Amino acid sequence: MGRIVLCIQSYIVRTAHHIILIDSCVGNHKPRPQVPFWNMMRTDRYERNLAATGLTVRDIDFVMCTHLHVDHVGWNTRLENGRWVPTFPRAKYLFADRELEHWTSRQRENPESCPWITDSVLPILEARREERVKSDHVLDELVRLIPTPGHTIDHYSVQVGKPGEDGIVTGDMIHTPLQVRYPELGMFTDYNSQQAGETRRRLFERICETTTLLCGAHFASPSVGRIVRRGSAFDFVPMSD
Ligand SMILES: [Zn+2]
Repeated sequence: MGRIVLCIQSYIVRTAHHIILIDSCVGNHKPRPQVPFWNMMRTDRYERNLAATGLTVRDIDFVMCTHLHVDHVGWNTRLENGRWVPTFPRAKYLFADRELEHWTSRQRENPESCPWITDSVLPILEARREERVKSDHVLDELVRLIPTPGHTIDHYSVQVGKPGEDGIVTGDMIHTPLQVRYPELGMFTDYNSQQAGETRRRLFERICETTTLLCGAHFASPSVGRIVRRGSAFDFVPMSD
């Protein structure tokens, strides 16, 4: 007890126009001594899971990074002949402009404080694969970003689908269904916990008692469900598989 289970996963969105990968987890060969399980990871699991969807890295048109924390940018790059290169060679990587500015300036001041920016974000800029967007960017009639600041400075979530048949891929605007019940409950890694709580309450108020699905990044399975009202807050009703 007293622990939460966090899974780490990417979402893949296929529309008639695009194939989009949202958040790229942890990545191989990267020094992450704070988390032994991630440190210098060598696994073919990510590749195998991608292949199981029938896709290869070349099929991805857009990589969306909801924010630039270590567990959301890792597979942005892979090691090739001692250099970090974009894992998804045809993709444009969508970064919120203020989020990118925040982390690249922090990296300039203190590279040790955010090594994942050095190995998983800067190589994307060097390869000119980035697209700097506002956190309310509209990709097309089916895919749009929604600003969900608080966990990080310019965090975005991704709304996909037609009205009535849509879902919101949250990124880290929420970490656990417990924060549906208690929207003001913060995460210790939040940039601004109060703002993160306001963001959650506003979003839940908007989609509560609708068919819009909430697709949690870190929720243990089932990660997808609906929001319903419960007293002065809300409840998460997981979708049964
Ligand atoms: Zn995360």
